[in-house]
Amino acid sequence: MSEKYGVGLGNNDATIRKKADSDYVSFWDEQAHNLSWFSPWEKTLDWNPPFAKWFVGGKINASYNALDIHQTTKSQKPAILWEGENGDSKTYTYGDLFVEVQKFANVLKSLGVKQGDRVTIYLPMVPELPIAMLACARIGAVHTVIFSGFSAASIKDRIDDSKSKIVITADGGYRRGKIVKLKEVIDDAIKGFEFVKHVIVLERTKNQISLSSKDKLWTDLMESISDSCNAEKLPSDHPLYILYTSGTTGKPKGVLHGTGGYLTHLYSTFKWAFDIKDSDIFFCTADIGWVTGHSYVVYAPLLHGATQIMYEGAPDFPDVSRMWDILQKYKTTIFYTTPTALRMFMKFGDDVPNSFDLSSLRLLGTVGEPINPEVWKWYYKIIGKEKCPIIDTWWQTETGGMMISALPGVETIPLKPGSGTLPIPGTDITVVDEFGTEVPPNTKGYLIIRNPWPGMLLTLWGDDEKYKSVYWSKYPNSYYPGDYALKDDDGYLWLLGRADDVLKIAGHRIGTAELESCIVSDDYVAESAVCGIPDDVKGEVIIAYVVLKNGVTIDKSILEKNLYNKIRNDVGAIATPKQIYFVSKLPKTRSGKIMRRLLKSIANGETIGDTSTLDDVSAVTEIQNIVKEKTK
Ligand code: ATP
Ligand code: MG
Repeated sequence: MSEKYGVGLGNNDATIRKKADSDYVSFWDEQAHNLSWFSPWEKTLDWNPPFAKWFVGGKINASYNALDIHQTTKSQKPAILWEGENGDSKTYTYGDLFVEVQKFANVLKSLGVKQGDRVTIYLPMVPELPIAMLACARIGAVHTVIFSGFSAASIKDRIDDSKSKIVITADGGYRRGKIVKLKEVIDDAIKGFEFVKHVIVLERTKNQISLSSKDKLWTDLMESISDSCNAEKLPSDHPLYILYTSGTTGKPKGVLHGTGGYLTHLYSTFKWAFDIKDSDIFFCTADIGWVTGHSYVVYAPLLHGATQIMYEGAPDFPDVSRMWDILQKYKTTIFYTTPTALRMFMKFGDDVPNSFDLSSLRLLGTVGEPINPEVWKWYYKIIGKEKCPIIDTWWQTETGGMMISALPGVETIPLKPGSGTLPIPGTDITVVDEFGTEVPPNTKGYLIIRNPWPGMLLTLWGDDEKYKSVYWSKYPNSYYPGDYALKDDDGYLWLLGRADDVLKIAGHRIGTAELESCIVSDDYVAESAVCGIPDDVKGEVIIAYVVLKNGVTIDKSILEKNLYNKIRNDVGAIATPKQIYFVSKLPKTRSGKIMRRLLKSIANGETIGDTSTLDDVSAVTEIQNIVKEKTK
């Protein structure tokens, strides 16, 4: 934990922490003035625990702040540099987006969509996806985007839960060169749903589709519609969207976000963390189907009038160099991706990125899972060439935006590989024990958030009780994210994995991230996941699953011995796994996160529960077979 990187790569504004610490409410009040409001708020925060209303009485519109405000100065500036999986490309300027969004807002109105109505969007990564979202926001409809990799059964639940009047989809979407027939999936998912009045179909792949009386083609609807639609003046807490969580720990939760607070949080964090400049080319690899895409592909960059890349397809298609090819092609300056993607890139070898010119990069970011220090260092050295700060941003669907991150846009602090560093200004985040008492430095415990923050969820859709019990019942008046963490001597936060996944071995608690990072630091290892299973003597023993890098031929029994030694040396004998299994892949959610609860169930010989968010079933069957074989 003593290594320090990135010193001097950023700005310094000493006043920001001071202001935030002295009064977080007036601090956020000041930040909210960066947005355009139709009418000012009367009260900055109405905190009726656990329900927070920000900028009460203020009137605002997300689409207005993303588009209208840029029309005088930036109508010719590219907003989206879209790159299709098959190599197609298309540029949308702020002026183009403004026209398309107004037209589509009029389309929605013409189909009877009113303020507060829900609209489900099930589209691939094409510009029409943000256009549809911004059109909803413009008229006060609540969008609910579903990742286009989900199957009919998972979509059915979500549409039923949100009772959407309109569903927007495409004939198909490209994924690894193949066409995914999205319209067919929707037909299946909405069978018997009388409340769905219309399905709008975008023709992306031009594959054959059958149209019913409910179905309308995007192009037909847009043909002769007016391109002028005023943005509705909405209350600050007007719901902007419902988004279901990734489902790493269980059944996804319908997170409801508001407008004024959420946008304030995004505007501020985008500036502080990414140090965004007018000349930047920003690239966030997240699918818009996840919160990172909502917050840092759609809303935050547009609020700032930034130029960004939006990529349609898989990061390793048509070959393993696709990402670096895109970075080079558009002279990308800021790159934001996930640890799971980085581990995959690392697995392909250094020669791949090394054969591209990545010199335009100036800042790197990661989100979604704890980043193993080994992977962080690779990112810093091989991609950033030791000249780009890396921000490791911790946040959740529920928090709306970043909560823990280094902020090169406003302050320069030394970076430590594997640590998210400090909470963002205006938040109160710490680590506590079972009883809610703050733990001393370097002691592991549970992350909590003690004050409301502007990007905070309004509630869980239609379920205030669940909202209270999931997030606010473990500790009085504190938000419980469900993550295990520690604070070091410098006050830096280290996220150690999910609290539910903590390993409890002979009275010691070990976060999954600590052990996995130790295993991943072996030269031959690409990825690892650990879990605990009950043991009569020790209470719990550890099982480790290990994926090797491409082309590794080392004798597994030798590697196994090396790994046992490494764990004993680096983490302690107590953390030695009972069993190491070598597998070809790990079970992950469709957003790329490791699903440790499945590994645990398999190792325990239990049924594996809800798998609707599982990306690749074959990962589970392989592990089931290996475990069966070993335990025979
Ligand atoms: P569900 O709540 O349905 O199980 P999920 O928690 O995976 O799904 P998200 O909101 O997409 O859904 O993910 C948030 C979680 O991701 C955090 O609680 C944390 O566990 C993990 N996470 C995100 N960013 C980081 C990070 N930088 N470091 C460590 N963990 C992170
Ligand atoms: Mg979660």
